[in-house]
Amino acid sequence: MTGNLLYEGKAKRVYQVEGTPGQLVLAYKDDVTAFNGEKKDILPGKARLNNAISSHIFQELHERGIRTHFIKKLSATEQLVHQTDIVPLEVVVRNTAAGSIVRRLGIEPKSALTPPVIELFYKNDELGDPLMNDDHALLLCDVTHEDLNAMKAQALEVNRQLIDLFTASGLELVDFKLEFGRMAGSNNVVLADEISPDTCRLWDLETRENLDKDVYRQGTGDLLEVYEKLMTRLEASL
Ligand code: UDP
Repeated sequence: MTGNLLYEGKAKRVYQVEGTPGQLVLAYKDDVTAFNGEKKDILPGKARLNNAISSHIFQELHERGIRTHFIKKLSATEQLVHQTDIVPLEVVVRNTAAGSIVRRLGIEPKSALTPPVIELFYKNDELGDPLMNDDHALLLCDVTHEDLNAMKAQALEVNRQLIDLFTASGLELVDFKLEFGRMAGSNNVVLADEISPDTCRLWDLETRENLDKDVYRQGTGDLLEVYEKLMTRLEASL
């Protein structure tokens, strides 16, 4: 990719494209990290899989009436998006108990969370992305009550649409993380970043086998094989 490197994160590089202000190229990397960067590897092929899966999901959400930053998939590892200022918080939606909520609140693993639980985390690597409440977000994240309500309402709508999408592929949507941003000249928050097995927990509906980054976090499987399997299952239900 030629263009100005604007930002490099753990899983993606972000480039500004000459001649098209307001648009960015997201270039996925083959890097995988877990536990706030303590565990890391380079897995050739991961960029292609994350880009394909995230592009597919954002395209589906667009067709289901959800506004996002996504414009189109450009190449095997790149996509074109609208430039946004990312709000420094993560919105997590949980349908089934797994991961940090189990450790934090002692909830029975794999139990159903009805209605879905929404959690906010402060995007701050130094602090390890701590859990926060609405008042903390108002204080730290340059957001209003309306922004928080809009993000939560969109997160629940994305949850409904993704459950529908993944159920058709025989998958249980356990939980996922969303990020939002604001486009230049607009105050509205719009869905941004990626939605992929790096940012979702997805289990086989029947066996409850993990088809997401937990296989890497827990060292229980081959991440590339699992992401490939997930992609094949999503494509099969198109
Ligand atoms: N998640 C993410 N990025 C983060 C933290 C969490 O994409 O920095 C996703 C994670 O993949 C899972 C959901 O958010 O689908 C909830 O993660 P949790 O709080 O359970 O954290 P973990 O158990 O992974 O530490």
